[in-house]
Amino acid sequence: MSEPSSPFGGFAIDFGAAGDGAPLAAVPVTAAAEGPPETNVLILGSGPAGLTAAIYAARADLRPIVLAGYQPGGQLTITTDVENYPGFPDGIQGPDLMLRFRQQAERFGTRIFDVEADRVDFSSRPFHVWAAGVEYRAQAVIVATGASAIWLGLPSEERLRGHGVSACATCDGFFFRDKAVAVVGGGDTALEEALYLTRFASKVHLLHRRDEFRASKIMQARAESHPAIEIHRSVTVDEVLGGETVTGVRLREVTTGATRELPVDGFFVAIGHRPNTAPFDGWLEKDEKGYLVVEHETHSRIEGVFIAGDVHDHRYRQAVTAAGDGCRAAIDAERWLEEHGVAEAVTTTAW
Ligand code: NAP
Repeated sequence: MSEPSSPFGGFAIDFGAAGDGAPLAAVPVTAAAEGPPETNVLILGSGPAGLTAAIYAARADLRPIVLAGYQPGGQLTITTDVENYPGFPDGIQGPDLMLRFRQQAERFGTRIFDVEADRVDFSSRPFHVWAAGVEYRAQAVIVATGASAIWLGLPSEERLRGHGVSACATCDGFFFRDKAVAVVGGGDTALEEALYLTRFASKVHLLHRRDEFRASKIMQARAESHPAIEIHRSVTVDEVLGGETVTGVRLREVTTGATRELPVDGFFVAIGHRPNTAPFDGWLEKDEKGYLVVEHETHSRIEGVFIAGDVHDHRYRQAVTAAGDGCRAAIDAERWLEEHGVAEAVTTTAW
């Protein structure tokens, strides 16, 4: 691992804090009394991609700022056991893993603000990003905003959200001790949620719209052999039942069209995720699934704007691949800044 070095040969922005390795997260945004907070590298997102980018950028003396979003730590903060992240032979809880990422980023001087970027202007450098009413300026931006849970889109699901409907077993499973719950989905997330819920619930119904699961074989085997999990294949959910709180779900058999009611107290949706790209509409290209498009390595179509993690990756979507991506983006940003210097005009127009 190389030693930190300045890519700018003396370029300096007064960040209002020494890069001596002390944690800087407590520095309030308003500390930048002379103007908007400025940085060489602004990282949007604080999942494995964003925080790994921060670790690398900070160690390269780029003094990054991370806008962590409304769910600091990203999706891993709403998962439970992470058993496939290398270096943790006994597994680690998702929130604990992300806390370690954050502490490591802060150790090298990253400033982290728990706000979400809601608007950007990538038309020229320094780039402009707004979050919670504050403008940030950056010579380079790494977009690592990840993805968010998808809902079924039923009116009853929306009405009962927070009243028995949830997309996070880790957050809400505790409330269903000795009760029956249902989980919809057939991927790793759904099976992981179902298995986690068996810690609390007396019965977990796993509802999948097909006969075949998308989840990995090991997770399938665990779910199929668990005595508290009952698997319902080839069913869709027509409605979540209940007035004040969830009392059941109405299922439809895909093959026959027949409907039946299943009494449950909780309903967990685990059907995948959507990339968080709204602030970049008109600036960054998206593919047919709505994920951001990487042009080459981690470069976006806009010079100086880089992309990492689940916001563009719908193939691997793993913490370790996102972390690797964050590392690549930080190295690409560092090299790009070395080549292009600072505050040079970039002529890019919005779409
Ligand atoms: P996913 O793999 O995309 O699976 C989504 C599941 O939801 C699919 O089974 C899909 O059904 C179902 N689904 C989608 N829309 C639906 C709808 N409207 N109604 C009913 N069912 C619907 O998503 P994921 O499970 O969140 O996993 C995402 C990625 O993260 C995967 O690569 C996964 O391996 C990874 N992951 C890994 C771990 C781990 O290794 N510990 C844990 C969690 C996630 P169809 O199958 O019919 O399309």
